[in-house]
Amino acid sequence: MPERDCIFCRIVANEIPSYEVYSDPNVKAFLDINPIAEGHVIVVPKEHFQGVSDADPESFLNVMDAARRISLAMVKSSFAEGTNIFIANGSVADQTVFHLHVHVLPRRNGDDINWNQWWQSKVKHVSEGVMSQIRQTLVEIEGENL
Ligand code: 5GP
Ligand code: ZN
Repeated sequence: MPERDCIFCRIVANEIPSYEVYSDPNVKAFLDINPIAEGHVIVVPKEHFQGVSDADPESFLNVMDAARRISLAMVKSSFAEGTNIFIANGSVADQTVFHLHVHVLPRRNGDDINWNQWWQSKVKHVSEGVMSQIRQTLVEIEGENL
């Protein structure tokens, strides 16, 4: 169901204009309104999901596959030399629009993203306790059709 107050539902319904890059029956992709690189693309399912946690596997895979193909096209056409593909999931992860979306960020040699520099400044030790909790929960949710 489209959500009246959701900006991406309104873009999908063409109620709000966007620069469309790709569309199929399940997915739409358009330029980010505040791009951090030229050609920064947002890929959304046409159906409304808040984020990763409430999307069904097929809808999620459709969006990821479109992101994969857009990324491929960017590199094949020499528009970019590579891409970063990422999702902000939840407000704590800095998600600001609560309609599931994937960012496809074109990368070029010498651009100003400096991902590795930022990453290196954040590297931390992870305790085994945390990892075993995640492994256990993965086993528990297996077969729950989540
Ligand atoms: P998030 O932080 O939720 O992963 O990112 C949401 C993204 O949507 C931001 O990069 C923001 O610039 C983009 N965005 C927000 N509103 C609009 C809009 O009305 N049109 C377009 N094209 N992009 C938007
Ligand atoms: Zn929506």
